[in-house]
Parts: sequence; C-alpha cells; structure tokens
Amino acid sequence: MATTQLNQIRVFLWKIIKGALPIGANLEARGLTANTKCVFCGLQETLDHLFISCQFATSVWEAAPFSNVQATLETTNFTSALQASRKLVNLPPTGVHLISLFPWIVWTIWLTRNQRIFQNREFDGSATLTKAITGAREWQQAQQEVHRAIELQTDPEIQPTSTIIINTDAAWKEKTKTAGIAWIFYDVNGKPFRQGSGTEEWVSSPIMAEALAIREALLQAQGHGHINIAIRSDAQILIRAINGRDQIKGIYGILQDIHNLTCYLSTSVFSFISRKDNVAADNLAKKAMLNFFNCM
Ligand SMILES: [Zn+2]
Repeated sequence: MATTQLNQIRVFLWKIIKGALPIGANLEARGLTANTKCVFCGLQETLDHLFISCQFATSVWEAAPFSNVQATLETTNFTSALQASRKLVNLPPTGVHLISLFPWIVWTIWLTRNQRIFQNREFDGSATLTKAITGAREWQQAQQEVHRAIELQTDPEIQPTSTIIINTDAAWKEKTKTAGIAWIFYDVNGKPFRQGSGTEEWVSSPIMAEALAIREALLQAQGHGHINIAIRSDAQILIRAINGRDQIKGIYGILQDIHNLTCYLSTSVFSFISRKDNVAADNLAKKAMLNFFNCM
C-alpha cells in the first residue's frame, strides 16, 4: 500500500514538472476561470504560491524537521525549492532518515488542498506535516520488510570512512513485472563482508529493476553509515544515465532518488562491471525472485 502511494507521488511530481497539475493558474491558462484562487488565502493559486509561498505552505515547511529548511523557505520558486531539497537532511526523531521528506510534504499539501475544496474538511499545517511524516515512515518500514540483509562477517577494519565497493544486480520477470534485486559489499581488498537481496513489484523494465537494486544498495550503505562508496552494475546504460550522460524514460523518479541518496555521501562512484564479474550478485538476485514466487 505504501509503495502504491509512493508511485502516486511520483506521478504527481511528474505532473508538477510538466505543468499538468489542475491548479488555478494552469486552469486559467486553459480558459477555465472558475476557482483559480488559493483555497487557503484567496490569492492567485500558482504552483509557487500553493506549495511554497502561501502562508499555509510556509506553516508546514517551518515546522518540518529538516536541518537546513531555510534553503527551501528562502526561495519562492518551486523548482529551486525542489533542487534545494536535495540538500535537506531529515532530523530525528521523525524516524525518517532515508528519503527526503520533501516530496511527501508537497504531496500532503496537495491532499489537504483537495480535501478543503472537495470535502469541505480542514487540516492545519501541523496535521498536514504529521500526515506527511507518517506516510514517509510507513513507506520506509515497508521497504525494510521486503529486503533482507545478511552479515557475512564483522570486520573490525571496516570503518564508516573506509571505501567500500558494492556490486548490484537484478533479475526481472516480464510476465509478472516483478524483480529480484541484490547487493554485495566488498572491502578494498575485494573481500565480501555483507550482502542482501529483496523483491520489488510493479517493475516495468529490466533497467528499472537494475536501478532499484542500486537505490537499495545506497539505502543499505547509508543505513550502515558508509560514506565512501563505489557502486558497480552490469547495466551500462544505467551507469551512463546516473553519471549524467544519458536520459532513460520511465525511471526518472528512481534516478532522482539515487541522486538524492548520493548527497549524503562523501564520495560516490558508479561504474560498469561485466556480467561475468558480477555472477555472485546475479545469483543472489535470481534466488530472491525464485523465493518470492515460492512464497505466493
Ligand atoms: Zn494561499
């Protein structure tokens, strides 16, 4: 359920970027003039107004548990706020430390706005923020439940600042649109010390599966406090996209997550590895997918 909600948020953010959200200013541009005023304050409802500069939006952002929320509040422009949000670090005790709360807050402001218009129900800034944090937390817990990590050894030589290498891979089944994903952590000497795998549903392509494997590897690395990471994948197109050379349709949201997660790191390197050098991760991903079907 929480995963479905995350997909809704992705579609929603995509609509924002495309100017396809049915807010007042967009409707007016299409010749529809009814209800173009902000439901919270009566000013013209634009993207920048509704999510950033409206007094209601400000009350939500000001209460948000970010370490440098000022960057978001200083701008009145949605796009620059979105860019600034990549640098926001969520503070305890929200229990949400893996993914930026930014999209959840924007999404919940949108829900609060719709509930006022269509259901005549009113929620204040603090209730809106609480809903956003709850949603992000539920999603994070759901992620942790579907992914299993195994400690291979506890190596006292591996410090959080040590550089680690992570091989990732994914297996994908077109018929069911499911994927098995896997990651293996190696020390600088090439010795594996941690590995894990999991399954993902609603995966529309093999490249998306590979991207999900990388995103999960980053989340796992972050969870263990690693800050110097070299990630390897046998999906060459994906590595090129992450390194900023190509675009890939349909995985914008995941690439964005990967980008956001690298903001927490001191160094992050993404490189290509041949399939024959990635057999261990490949086997792990295939096994995860088989286990998933055996459990159904
Ligand atoms: Zn307003």
